[in-house]
Amino acid sequence: PVADKQLRVVLVGLGSYAERVATAMKDCKIAKLVGGVTGTPEKVGKWSDKFGLDKANFYDYKDFEKIKDNPNIDAVYITLPNSMHHEYTLRAAKMGKHVICEKPMSVSVKQAQEMIAACKKANVKLYIGYRLHFEPYTRELIRMRESGELGKIMHVNTYDGFKSGNPNQWRLKKALAGGGALMDVGIYCINGARYATGEEPIWVSAEEAKTDPVKFKEVDETVTWQMGFPSGVIASCSTTYNFNNFERLYVIGEKGFVELGPAFGYGPMKGRTHKGEMSWDTTKMHQTWQMDGMADCILNGKPEPNISGEEGLKDMKVIEAIYKSIAAGGKKVP
Ligand code: NDP
Repeated sequence: PVADKQLRVVLVGLGSYAERVATAMKDCKIAKLVGGVTGTPEKVGKWSDKFGLDKANFYDYKDFEKIKDNPNIDAVYITLPNSMHHEYTLRAAKMGKHVICEKPMSVSVKQAQEMIAACKKANVKLYIGYRLHFEPYTRELIRMRESGELGKIMHVNTYDGFKSGNPNQWRLKKALAGGGALMDVGIYCINGARYATGEEPIWVSAEEAKTDPVKFKEVDETVTWQMGFPSGVIASCSTTYNFNNFERLYVIGEKGFVELGPAFGYGPMKGRTHKGEMSWDTTKMHQTWQMDGMADCILNGKPEPNISGEEGLKDMKVIEAIYKSIAAGGKKVP
């Protein structure tokens, strides 16, 4: 069944993640993909055929503002390289369209604050593509912690990374990526430690291991950091761009634990708790949960999980503090 009201979305930047979102949105009921924004004209025909989209809902970056006059578009979903998120969020807000923006929401705290202010002023939603907040294993971890089943939280251990391929990709260029592994995938550990504890960190200390200074000349390669929380809990975290099989979120409390691994990728998710193996629905793509979930929040006022611009800003503040600590030789930074 198709919902009466649907959130009609265009993807901005038709790269590999946009393609995944588009594929997942085929199974959405409340969110609907209607078009795209691209700098590559060949993609218009390819995408409209592949996803059954009307060519009238495709735009170039230069034409972006024309979306304002298209009554068939409610929201833009920005899947551009990181350093472009700020500009396109501001331009979308000006048009009065809701904004969903990929992680990391920006490449600096200042940009993130400007994005939040622009969307507030325009009275549009700003959501960050934190898909895991709609994903059943992650939801269960949060539920168990919130319900007290884990007791007082004592420790978090989390890591996420992969071996990056092509040395010429934008992810390795500071101007487009803003940073390396930390910004791209370490952000999942920051977000994860925050939802595993339900607290906001008050300090970090961090160090970088650079085993390939040529490939990772402009951006961080492997970062290890600690985050201290008001309760006294310390989360121990790492991220990398230089090896595989590195993905876990472990939270332990006085009464129990949850261990997710894989914890952050596209799944299938797996996990266990002090009660045994976890078994939740893994049939849907994460982005299907995410987009229907976000549409339900926007259209039907469903309570929002922690996906707002303010949540993205909290992660950006930690990222900046981690880079500061690395630059200061591992010093504790508030
Ligand atoms: P890609 O390189 O695959 O796609 C980026 C697209 O942006 C390009 O295909 C291009 O689309 C457009 N673009 C415009 N200007 C540039 C430029 N100067 N350099 C490169 N591309 C440009 O990247 P991803 O899809 O992997 O990542 C996009 C965003 O999505 C990132 O912010 C990333 O962090 C996020 N992401 C999130 C994931 C998640 O699980 N939440 C997973 C993967 C990525 P066009 O030809 O249409 O103009």
